[in-house]
Amino acid sequence: MHAITYDAPRSLEQALALLRQNGPAARVFCGGTDIIIQMRAGVRRPEHLIDAKGIPELRKLSFDAKKGLCLGAAVSCIEIFESALMRQHYPGLTEAAHLIGSLQIQARASVGGNLCNGSPAADSTPALIALGAVARIASARGERKVPVDQFVTAPGRTVLEPDELLVEVHVPAPVNHSADAYLRFIPRNEMDIAVVGVGAAVTLEGERCVAARIGLGAVAPTPLLADAASKALVGSKLDARAIERAAELAVSASSPIDDMRGTAEFRRHLVGVLTRRAVGLAVERARAC
Ligand SMILES: Cc1cc2nc3c(=O)[nH]c(=O)nc-3n(C[C@H](O)[C@H](O)[C@H](O)COP(=O)(O)OP(=O)(O)OC[C@H]3O[C@@H](n4cnc5c(N)ncnc54)[C@H](O)[C@@H]3O)c2cc1C
Repeated sequence: MHAITYDAPRSLEQALALLRQNGPAARVFCGGTDIIIQMRAGVRRPEHLIDAKGIPELRKLSFDAKKGLCLGAAVSCIEIFESALMRQHYPGLTEAAHLIGSLQIQARASVGGNLCNGSPAADSTPALIALGAVARIASARGERKVPVDQFVTAPGRTVLEPDELLVEVHVPAPVNHSADAYLRFIPRNEMDIAVVGVGAAVTLEGERCVAARIGLGAVAPTPLLADAASKALVGSKLDARAIERAAELAVSASSPIDDMRGTAEFRRHLVGVLTRRAVGLAVERARAC
């Protein structure tokens, strides 16, 4: 490894000033579970690392029944899993955070880092997409908001400019009879990257679905919102036929590749299976609350 300057700012202003001064040579990090491995492998070579874990805004996990969830970029996956509020209101996102690596990894890794890393196979991103999450981005020039389904632009690339950092993601408040779920397939029991990941969120009014979103991971260059599949559920009674139609449309929205974890054909098959199951689980939860 080359020499690196390390800073651990205690305020957002300090972090943004460091980013402005150091430009593309600097990189913000949270848990370091992606970036340290990438630096060792020579994939990324930042000269300046800005440790975001000491910045209060990025450590905030707050929930309001009207305003929803503010999840600071540096909140660790284990903090998410241990939060009773998260498990109650956003079980799918909580499941996704709890699938990331081992407990040791989850003690460091963050959902913010998972998103900013820009991997098409990131587990928490399809769950955030299903929930309609919005990223709050800051730089010394000001702030902007970007829907999570538009945040990753290519493998390893995001909308973030070199002087910007992710402060938090905002997830709308769950309404009555709404719920989410996240499922992934990996070839072994744990500690592997998703072959396919599917996040689903539904809202019911009586028997009828009034809102639905399906997020897909590991089946395209970026995590994506399966828009037509989501819309196909709205207005339906979420019976087997409606869910099957959504699964078919989710398969059509995917454009997977062959790699060592699975063939494109196998991935398309999994998109159908996991969409049916994730939507089914979200519906079961929404009916129960
Ligand atoms: C053994 C192991 C198993 C893993 N298993 C999984 C898994 O099952 N599923 C999965 O999805 N991932 C997995 N990962 C990858 C990794 O743990 C996750 O992507 C994790 O969520 C990254 O979070 P982090 O806080 O450690 O990110 P970091 O390494 O801190 O950052 C990741 C990237 O995002 C940028 N970044 C981080 N925070 C910000 C910010 N606030 N603003 C701007 N840029 C930022 C960094 O510069 C870096 O490029 C695994 C990794 C390891 C080592």
